[in-house]
Amino acid sequence: MKTITIIGGGLGGLALGVYLQRLSVPVRLIEAGSYPKHKVCGEFICGVDPAWLTEMGLGNIISDSLHHTDMKWWVEGRQVLSAELPRTAWGLSRYKLDLDLASTFEREGGELLTGERAAPRDFSEEGTVQAIGKKPREGSDWIGLKVHAKNVSVQGLEMHVGQSGYVGLCEVENSSVNVCGLFKVRRGLRGKDLIRQYLHANGLDELAQRLEQGSLVDESFSATAGFQLGKQPSKKGVQLGDSSYLIPPFTGNGMSMALESAYLAGGLLKQYSQGELGWDEVATLHKKRLDQHFRKRMNLAGLLHPLFFSKMGRRALSLTAPILPYRSLFTHLRTR
Ligand SMILES: Cc1cc2nc3c(=O)[nH]c(=O)nc-3n(C[C@H](O)[C@H](O)[C@H](O)COP(=O)(O)OP(=O)(O)OC[C@H]3O[C@@H](n4cnc5c(N)ncnc54)[C@H](O)[C@@H]3O)c2cc1C
Repeated sequence: MKTITIIGGGLGGLALGVYLQRLSVPVRLIEAGSYPKHKVCGEFICGVDPAWLTEMGLGNIISDSLHHTDMKWWVEGRQVLSAELPRTAWGLSRYKLDLDLASTFEREGGELLTGERAAPRDFSEEGTVQAIGKKPREGSDWIGLKVHAKNVSVQGLEMHVGQSGYVGLCEVENSSVNVCGLFKVRRGLRGKDLIRQYLHANGLDELAQRLEQGSLVDESFSATAGFQLGKQPSKKGVQLGDSSYLIPPFTGNGMSMALESAYLAGGLLKQYSQGELGWDEVATLHKKRLDQHFRKRMNLAGLLHPLFFSKMGRRALSLTAPILPYRSLFTHLRTR
C-alpha cells in the first residue's frame, strides 16, 4: 500500500493519522512544532458525531473530558441569554488533546516527525495531505488570544461580546478555565497582559475584573494573527481543517470541522493507498465532499459573524436574544 504523508500535526492532521492507522494505511506525519503546546482555541468541542469519533479511534480521548450542558451570553456586559445546549459539548485543552492524539498515533506505530517544517513545494506532492491550519493572509485585521485562568468560576460555556471582539470562557481539565477571544486588531496594544488590554479596549471591564480575582497561567498564553475567515483559497491536493475552511470562532465548530474533514478524507485516502483511486480523483472527490458537508454552516456563520462587529448588530442581538431560535441556529451551525 502507498504511504500517506500528512503535513501538520494539529487536531485535523493527528485525527487523520490515528484514523488511517485504524484503516491499516501506512502514514507519516510532519509537524513543525512539538508536543505538548498551548494553542489559541476556545477548547470547546461540539458537533462531530460521536459514532464517527469511535470509528476513528478517538472516542475516549474526547468523550472522557468535561461535559458542558449550559451556555450563557453577554452583550456589552448585559446577560442576554441563558440556555441549555442542544447537544453536549466537551471541554478539553489543546495542550492535552493534541498530546494525547500524538501519543496515540505513535503508540499505534505511526511515524511522527516533530520540529520539521515542510516547504510549500512539498504540499503538492502526490499522497500528501495538508493539515497546516490557518494560512497566513495579507490584509487581515484579526487577532486571536487565549490564556488559562485558575480560581475563576464559570457558568457552563460563557460568551462575552464586546465592541469589536468576543471572548469565550470554558472550563477544561485541572479546574482551569480557558479564556479565548477573537478581536479586531488595535494598534498600540502589546505586552504580556494583552488579553486584559483587549478586554478593556472592548468595554469588557467586568470580565477583566473577574479574571483579576483569579490568576492567569502565563505559560498558557498564546496569540495568532494574520488570517482570513471563510473558505480558504483552493489549492491543488487534499486539505483538511482550517486549511480548507476557517469558520468564525463564535460557532465553536472549527475543531469539530477538523475532525469531520479527517473522517470524510479517511476512506478516499485508503482507496488511493490501495491503488483504487488516482490522487487527482481523491483531491476532487474530497473537495466536493467538504463543500457539500460544510457549505450550509459556513454560509450561516458568514451571515451572523458581522453582527457582532456592528453597533446595530449587537443591539439587534440583545433585543432579540429572548426570542432567537438559538437551538435551531446552533444545530444548523453544526450540521450538513
Ligand atoms: C480565537 C479562536 C477561538 C476558537 N475557538 C474554538 C472553539 O471553541 N471550538 C472549536 O471547535 N474551534 C475553535 N477554534 C477553531 C480551532 O482552533 C481550529 O479550527 C482547529 O484548531 C483547526 O485544527 P487544524 O488541525 O486544522 O489546525 P491546527 O490545530 O492549527 O494545526 C495545524 C498544525 O500544522 C502545523 N504546521 C503548519 N505549517 C506547517 C508546515 N509547513 N510543516 C509542518 N507543520 C506545519 C502547525 O504547527 C500546527 O500544529 C477557534 C479558533 C480561534 C482563532
